[in-house]
Amino acid sequence: MSEPTAYRGRFAPSPTGPLHFGSLVAAVGSYLDARTQGGEWLVRMEDVDTPRNQPGAADDILRTLEAFGFAWDGPVLWQSTRLAAYGEVLETLKRSGQVYGCACSRKEIADSATHAAIDGGLAYPGLCRGGLPAGREARAWRLRVDDREIAFDDRLQGRIAQHLAHDVGDFVLRRADGLFAYQLAVVVDDAWQGMTDIVRGADLLASTPRQIWLQRCLGYPTPRYAHLPVAANPAGEKLSKQTRAAALDVAQAPALLVQALSFLGQAVPAALCRAPLAEVWAWALAHWSFAAIPRQPRIMLDSAG
Ligand code: GLU
Repeated sequence: MSEPTAYRGRFAPSPTGPLHFGSLVAAVGSYLDARTQGGEWLVRMEDVDTPRNQPGAADDILRTLEAFGFAWDGPVLWQSTRLAAYGEVLETLKRSGQVYGCACSRKEIADSATHAAIDGGLAYPGLCRGGLPAGREARAWRLRVDDREIAFDDRLQGRIAQHLAHDVGDFVLRRADGLFAYQLAVVVDDAWQGMTDIVRGADLLASTPRQIWLQRCLGYPTPRYAHLPVAANPAGEKLSKQTRAAALDVAQAPALLVQALSFLGQAVPAALCRAPLAEVWAWALAHWSFAAIPRQPRIMLDSAG
C-alpha cells in the first residue's frame, strides 16, 4: 500500500464510451479539489467490465483529458492489470467466510426477493447464505453484510445512511461471468493507491456504503467522500452513454470547461467565456470555491449537453 499523503484524489473513468459533459464535471471537480489543496491527482482506467468496454474509448478518454489541459500524477493505473490483486483479496475473504458462493440465477432471486434494492436491482434474499443447495455450483461470489446501518458524512450531500442488509443484501464481488465487480476493484485500488479523497458523481452515492463496508471487512481506511451533482438531460436522466450524451468536442474545450465550472456553482466572469484554455484553468485554480458547489445530487441541463 502507498505511503499516506495529505491529499490524494483521482478520476476513474470506465472506457465504455467517450467522455461527455457529466464526466467532465467529475474530472474538473476532483482535479480542482485536489490541486487547490496541494494534493495529488491520479487517473485510473476502470476497464474490468470487459463486455462494456468500447474499443478505442480508453485512449480517446486520455487524449481528451490531455486536450482539456488535465495533468495527472504518475502513470495511469489500468484495472485490467490488477486482476491478480483482486483475486487475492477475494480468496482472503473466502477463507474468512465473509464471502460465499452463490448458485442463484436471476430468476431464482426475482422469485424470492421481497423488495427492490437501493440501486434499482433486487435486495438479495440470502438464499445461498447458509451454503449452496445440494448439487448446485457457485456462479457468483457474495460478501456478507451485517444488520447494522452504515453511515458517513459526505462533504456535499451531508449524512448518508444505509442499512445494507435491507437495502442491498449480500452483494456480488465476483460475477457469474467470472469478472470482478466494480465494488471490489474500486475499493482495492482506492486503498492500494492511498486515496484520501474521493470526489465523483452523486450517481455513486448509493454504492458508497457498500464500499465502506468492504473497506471495514478488509481493514482498509475509509477516505473522505464528496459526491458532486450529476448532470441530467431534460428528461431527468443522468448524462451517460446509455442516454446518448454527446462526446466532448475538444475544439470547444475552453467554453466547455467554463460550462463545467458554472455547473459546479463557480462564479465564472463573463469575459472568461472566450478566453484560451490556460487562462480558464488559471482562473479556476485561483478562485475555486468548494463551498459554492450546489448540494443537490442532480441538476438538469437545458440541452442534452
Ligand atoms: N468507473 C466509475 C464510473 O465511470 C467511477 C468509479 C468511481 O469514481 O468510484 O462510473
